[in-house]
Amino acid sequence: MEETIFDKIIARKIPAQIAYEDDAYIVIHDISPQAPVHVLVIPKRRIATLNDLTPADSDLLAGMFLVAAKVMRSLGHSDYRTVFNCGPGAQQTVFHLHLHVLAGRKFNWPPG
Ligand code: AMP
Repeated sequence: MEETIFDKIIARKIPAQIAYEDDAYIVIHDISPQAPVHVLVIPKRRIATLNDLTPADSDLLAGMFLVAAKVMRSLGHSDYRTVFNCGPGAQQTVFHLHLHVLAGRKFNWPPG
């Protein structure tokens, strides 16, 4: 499969503002933030969409939320919105699984 923009960031082929990194994940600040804080939690092992997850990915998926909470804590936020866009109809544009984590403003419900 072709490299995604996130593969290129992980490989340091293109720059990004990195908020956190470990063996399994990288967290970057979104280039087009939709809130004062908007980071993306990205597993280094590429999975295209939520539809491509298997039961074997359960720990990886759970870990995304643990990393999100850790990064939000480090940035001083306890209130935040987490979003997975799945598929073009839900505005997914990068087909490399990522969790949006947004903070620093009031969020409405239902979402748009
Ligand atoms: P989605 O539309 O859910 O697939 O989210 C992809 C996100 O990646 C969007 O919010 C983009 O702004 C963000 N994005 C795309 N390219 C970059 C980049 N080079 N660095 C940081 N964020 C990016």
